[in-house]
Amino acid sequence: MSDAKPSRELVIPPPRPDRPPLRANLLNVMQKANTTLTPLFPYMHAGAIVPTGALFIGGPDRDYGQFYHHNSVDEVIIAFVANEATLQTGQVYNGGRVHGVNSFLKDQKKAGSFALFTVTQRQLDEGAQPEAITILCAQCRKEIFRGELDGASPPDAHELEHPFATIAKVPPLVHEYNTDPGRRTCPDCGHVNEPFPLRTWGWDLYAKQSATMAHAKQVLHAAASAGEAK
Ligand SMILES: [Zn+2]
Repeated sequence: MSDAKPSRELVIPPPRPDRPPLRANLLNVMQKANTTLTPLFPYMHAGAIVPTGALFIGGPDRDYGQFYHHNSVDEVIIAFVANEATLQTGQVYNGGRVHGVNSFLKDQKKAGSFALFTVTQRQLDEGAQPEAITILCAQCRKEIFRGELDGASPPDAHELEHPFATIAKVPPLVHEYNTDPGRRTCPDCGHVNEPFPLRTWGWDLYAKQSATMAHAKQVLHAAASAGEAK
């Protein structure tokens, strides 16, 4: 017999009809993802739990570089499969509100090494959700770039109209840094830093394809409206 005190009943309401439960196979998604970090599901609304897939692949021509991510919500990382990575298969941890981000590989130049994991965050229910990407001087570690963005979601956001902000909003910020050697020159030590390898991360592809698919939806609606008017 248990003398357990009556507990407060916690009830998870059923999902809204327009937000049915979905499932994804991480291996299938990352087989064809256009970016190193991509949402697994289209739900991006305020309060949404947003699991993303991440994949890094080592090779002689690889250089992911490094940046720091400043987030205002927790990121829970689950390493699903890792091979010669700094993560262990099955490892679960909280990434921390400020964390360095690189290839997650012991040696990014080593062919056959990879890291496959998920990063899950919960969108705030309301208010700003500030994030920043910073890059440090490779020689003296002074912060030489800081790109700020708001990762908040509108109440009913879907990925098509509101692509994952952490990825989609960064390319234009980094573009300015990449194309101006003056911006990449350290004011302290004078070192001219390499451009950030956006293409290796795929963020530019995700941003471009997101914008194009949102446009495609508009064009399709316009074509349907024109057809109805005839
Ligand atoms: Zn420096």
